[in-house]
Amino acid sequence: MAQWKYADPEEVRLSAEILRTLEQAGHTACWVGGCVRDELIGRPVNDMDIATSARPEEVTELFARTVPTGIEHGTVTVVVEKIPFEVTTFRTETDYKDFRRPDEVTFVRSLDEDLQRRDFTMNAIARKLGGEYVDPYGGRADLELGVIRCVGEARERFREDALRMLRGVRFACVFGFDFEPKTWEALLELRGNMIHIAAERIRAELEKMIGGPNPAEGLRLMAQSALLAEAKILMKPQALEQARPARLDALPPQPAELRWAALLQGLGVTGGEAENLLKSWTFSGGFSKSAAALLRIDERMEAAGGAETRLVFIRCVLDFGRKAAETWLTYRFALAEADKLPAARFEQAAEWLAAIPAESPRELALGGNDIAGQLNRAPGPWLGALIRRLLEAAALGEIANEREALLAGINRLLAEPDTREGARSE
Ligand code: ATP
Ligand code: MG
Repeated sequence: MAQWKYADPEEVRLSAEILRTLEQAGHTACWVGGCVRDELIGRPVNDMDIATSARPEEVTELFARTVPTGIEHGTVTVVVEKIPFEVTTFRTETDYKDFRRPDEVTFVRSLDEDLQRRDFTMNAIARKLGGEYVDPYGGRADLELGVIRCVGEARERFREDALRMLRGVRFACVFGFDFEPKTWEALLELRGNMIHIAAERIRAELEKMIGGPNPAEGLRLMAQSALLAEAKILMKPQALEQARPARLDALPPQPAELRWAALLQGLGVTGGEAENLLKSWTFSGGFSKSAAALLRIDERMEAAGGAETRLVFIRCVLDFGRKAAETWLTYRFALAEADKLPAARFEQAAEWLAAIPAESPRELALGGNDIAGQLNRAPGPWLGALIRRLLEAAALGEIANEREALLAGINRLLAEPDTREGARSE
């Protein structure tokens, strides 16, 4: 049976069982695409995708648990021992509309025809149960050479689906491969077609590129190709050139906010602009918010100096939360290390963060209702503002986070003006 060195043994065993079941029912079946490619270059294999001559309804009949994931495109998810595998019927794609993936596909009985519709030679290799390869386009040779080459005529491939160009750039960047000259030429010729590709599909590719082992190479290739110069996620070559010193490689890939914040900073996007921009690029609300928070903290801290630094930092923690402050520290420590710059400022901030007794009203030893009762006032907006001042005083170590001390503190705070709004840099 086929040996897999870079895949999960359980997934190999279970997917091999699926292949066997399909073959015993008289169909052709094989592993195909990313898993075969990744195994050949010795990278961790993710999805053990299966291609078969069996029609979706035939696949559905053969297995106990199936999900009709994308049945109209031929994909059925077969679940064995709780692990899902995508089983896709051999197909060709016709009628590419608007330079995007077609809505309609035609099921075929031959593997070679299926491989022909795939984007790059390295993605058009199939592997049989016994371990033999079906590699009609020289995908293995191109993997040896480290070359991104389209299956067949590159211009046709890119004209059919413009996203393939960005996939190519992503593979080149993640694998450290070069473009075969004709493929690169076609990409330069057809890059304008990227305008037709949905932001969501672009974002998914960019996430893999920026989260990969060599994000700086991704920026270089995107600048050089001008692939996103007119796209729903806009990154003009000039802006990308300007962003290239942003040291994305110095930052760990996780949490993803780190590299995206560095990229946005490089592109000249401010913390105030970042959240809406990332949302318009189809990032989740949560991610957009936390990446923007990282930028906002960084901007405030870069502008702060001297004795007020501690107050500025503590206000950042209270405004954006402990997690955002920690992410900012990770960001600054990594950049300082990469640039061999002193990190004493950030060590100091880490100590301040560790010493903060309460970061949210929940953690305060005095509840809102208790405060309102003590002051004989109905809760209202004043209460939130007061709690916030208490939190700040506790974080600064001016008041202990204990009920009695906080109660005593309230009286003092009420006698003083609230300096917070004026000090906020937002
Ligand atoms: P990844 O490692 O990111 O999963 P992948 O090559 O496996 O990369 P998938 O999107 O999982 O990418 O697609 C699986 C296979 O389907 C590819 O290897 C390729 O053969 C084919 N494929 C995917 N997208 C396209 C496309 N836009 N045009 C042609 N073939 C494609
Ligand atoms: Mg894949």
